[in-house]
Amino acid sequence: MIAEEKNRIIAEGLGLCWHDWEKSIYEGPPDEWGRTFPIKSERCKNCNSLSLTQIEDNPDFSTWPGFGVIMERGPGRKWWESFFAWLWEAFNTQIDFYLFGVLPISHINPPIMQDKLATWLAEHEGEWREK
Ligand SMILES: [Zn+2]
Repeated sequence: MIAEEKNRIIAEGLGLCWHDWEKSIYEGPPDEWGRTFPIKSERCKNCNSLSLTQIEDNPDFSTWPGFGVIMERGPGRKWWESFFAWLWEAFNTQIDFYLFGVLPISHINPPIMQDKLATWLAEHEGEWREK
């Protein structure tokens, strides 16, 4: 999976829209003299949200802010416990666990979380994606 595919499946797993902005121009509301002016905007093709000023970037889960989004929204998702159990299992098989008997928390950083979560979500798509 390329980085964008990973980010996209994670965003969807977290219940976020993967925005696909499309430029559009429409007639604004009439002013007091009844004149209308074209307004440039960007509308997301997926969730229909409208942006007149700033385009909201899709999250990059290989960064700390992206990691924060996972940790903030993940625990509220139905699949979170299954994923975390799997993640725990994956780390438990690593050598640090045998040496120190603890989850090597230092192994969890944004790129690893991005990779593990995207992999898990892709493998368990049927369990979380709404039809
Ligand atoms: Zn959107």
